[in-house]
Amino acid sequence: MTTWTASALLAEIAQIGRNDDGSYSRLCLQHDEVALREWFVAKATELGLTIVTDMNANIWAWWGQPGPHAVLTGSHLDSVPGGGAYDGPLGVICALVAVAQMKDAGVEPSKPFAVVVMADEEGARFGMPCLGSRLASGKLSKDGAHKLVARDGQPLPEAWRQAGLDPDLIGPDDAVLHASCFIELHVEQGRGLADLGRPVAIATAVRPHGRWRAEFTGQGNHAGTTLIPDRHDPVLPVAETILAARQAAEQAGCVTTVGRINVEPGGTNVIASAATMWLDCRAEEAQTVTMVVEGIQKTAHEAADKHGCHVVWTRESWTDRTAFDDGLRHRMLQVLGEDTPQLSTGAGHDAATLAATMPTGMLFVRNPTGASHCPAESASDEDCEAGAQALRAVVEELVK
Ligand SMILES: [Zn+2]
Repeated sequence: MTTWTASALLAEIAQIGRNDDGSYSRLCLQHDEVALREWFVAKATELGLTIVTDMNANIWAWWGQPGPHAVLTGSHLDSVPGGGAYDGPLGVICALVAVAQMKDAGVEPSKPFAVVVMADEEGARFGMPCLGSRLASGKLSKDGAHKLVARDGQPLPEAWRQAGLDPDLIGPDDAVLHASCFIELHVEQGRGLADLGRPVAIATAVRPHGRWRAEFTGQGNHAGTTLIPDRHDPVLPVAETILAARQAAEQAGCVTTVGRINVEPGGTNVIASAATMWLDCRAEEAQTVTMVVEGIQKTAHEAADKHGCHVVWTRESWTDRTAFDDGLRHRMLQVLGEDTPQLSTGAGHDAATLAATMPTGMLFVRNPTGASHCPAESASDEDCEAGAQALRAVVEELVK
């Protein structure tokens, strides 16, 4: 077997789901992400791994027999719309490279070991971040999953059936519930490593974060004949709420984002009848998020009242501050060197979702731009290889 490299594998998938601006849109169980899944299965099969696609749409590539107390590594292949090339695939690819190199070196794991691809980590298709790991760990029930509808209108059970999966089998997965640990490698989504001049870091924690949906309703009407005092335009309180979100973040020293707005019916010469916006808020401490979001909601209600509109808020997801496992972190430090940088992150990950179920840890690879979820996201070939080497060293230690 020729030794695989992360950059060569990244090049193999570089055209899949690529947009004209160089960004990627690989939405869970849609054709580009399905193409990536097929690519993964082919590569893992080439390595002699045994493929299992589970009831939660996660793909497992087992080295030897599946079993309890397994060492798991992997990440996701889906992206946000217009995302970067590395967020997700880098972790999957480095895991494949680690396996290839361990096989080349004649390593024989003495524990069950699998590379896992988790479904809809971004939540960009079904609106629930870390969908696959939530389902596998029992954090989201089958009934909850059945209620999810993709943003393209397809109910989750139908998408499952279309992919050849039985939605009635969705549920907690023994392979996850009884695993010994999960290590996820990921491109860094910030400039921490670039500022330190180092290629690889060990993650310490994921900062708390949540997503909320605000549905504003007003009264649709004619853009030319409806006098200003007679309008109940829901777009105006949305605008005020977005500005309030920015101001609140600046005051609290945290981050808020409104990156998605739907205006109905969406006509240039029609005053909107409804407008929905999604708010994402993250901070060092959970109580800061709560305080900031409550303030924004208060402003939204006042703005809705002022414009003769109505607003309903729904929390769509919440992830508390998640510290990665101390024992694993120390083992990684021993393997990679005590001076390896350690960083926290504002981004959610499957490793954080699974942290309540098993010891989890993460490795970050330097991203010179610090940008993510956009085409500017990057990592040099050398750093990708450094990531793969670090992951291999850690996994090799864990499967001993
Ligand atoms: Zn990711």
